Amino acid sequence: TDTSQHLLVTGGCGFIGSNFVRYWLARYPQSKIVVYDKLTYAGRKENLADLWADPRLKLVVADIGDIDAVRRACQDHQIDLIVNFAAETHVDQSILGPLVFTDTNVRSTHVLLEVARELGLRLHHISTDEVYGHIRDEHQSVETDKLAPRSPYAASKAAADQLVQAYHITYGLPVTITRGANNVGPYQYPEKAVPLFSTNAILGEPIPVYSDGLQMRDYAHVHDHCTGIETVLLHGLIGEVYNVGTGHEMTNLEMVDIVLDTLGKSPALVRHVTDRAGHDRRYSMNVDKLKALGWQPRYEPREAVAEAAKWYADNRTWWEPIRSGEFREYYERQYAER
Ligand code: NAD
Repeated sequence: TDTSQHLLVTGGCGFIGSNFVRYWLARYPQSKIVVYDKLTYAGRKENLADLWADPRLKLVVADIGDIDAVRRACQDHQIDLIVNFAAETHVDQSILGPLVFTDTNVRSTHVLLEVARELGLRLHHISTDEVYGHIRDEHQSVETDKLAPRSPYAASKAAADQLVQAYHITYGLPVTITRGANNVGPYQYPEKAVPLFSTNAILGEPIPVYSDGLQMRDYAHVHDHCTGIETVLLHGLIGEVYNVGTGHEMTNLEMVDIVLDTLGKSPALVRHVTDRAGHDRRYSMNVDKLKALGWQPRYEPREAVAEAAKWYADNRTWWEPIRSGEFREYYERQYAER
């Protein structure tokens, strides 16, 4: 990828996509980006509010499942590269209403591959550590491990991941894949654990921790995910998969402690609630392959979580309207019976 290229960033109004767009435009003045986003509940134009006036940035509001709309956007804007963040992303939502996960994450990713094949474009796909499933003992997942997803979300992401690889093997499509760890940072929708716990803590509301809270996660700052994707776009080998995380884990309870500590709130807010069905106990990735391309994460997991919690304390005007709107209904449905 040369850095004057035109990128179609799908899901660019979501959490990681908007952070990526912000990072890329600041770093590569020659580049142009078309954000292609359906604006689901998780997609928010305001995540890029200060950037829409930039002539290098355009928004197309459409579904990645609409092949004509995707083709038109790529042709109208002379796109060289598709970076696919668009997805349904919340495991709990995938348990409440799974079919849309297959529609968007599998079928619609397939649509992007078809357009890329037709027009001869490179496609970079954002996958997740959840495709490896529950990781036992001291093992750290490497890119060649078998995929063993266990939730409807993870299974849909694993299917997409394998379709992307199949298009490289079968058609020689120039693809790359990054598998990201649990990300934290600015603009993460408050259904996810760190923003949910941070905003609950700020409001003095109970913090619902699944089961014993001893699930292990690698909390990576979204900034480091963006630089990981950048590294793969610029230096990654075509057809290859790269893990992106810190390589270090902590328990959910440790994460909660950091959030409460950072915000100066009491541990008495913690409530243990009935576990998520099929909840994976541990994710852990080896990130040596990406490091071999010269990438290093800037944040340790502890700093990443603390930085994120601080952002929610400093940016109430971003999350207050979300929490008082449609989010409320989901939250009550999700936690009422636990
Ligand atoms: P998000 O839920 O915040 O944003 C998803 C975006 O995709 C939203 O802007 C939404 O409007 C858009 N979208 C959804 N369906 C669409 C469709 N059919 N057509 C067009 N746009 C659509 O998600 P996120 O947390 O930023 O995750 C982005 C990507 O990274 C996803 O592919 C996710 O699986 C992956 N990922 C996330 C994490 C994490 O911790 N959040 C970790 C690893 C990988």
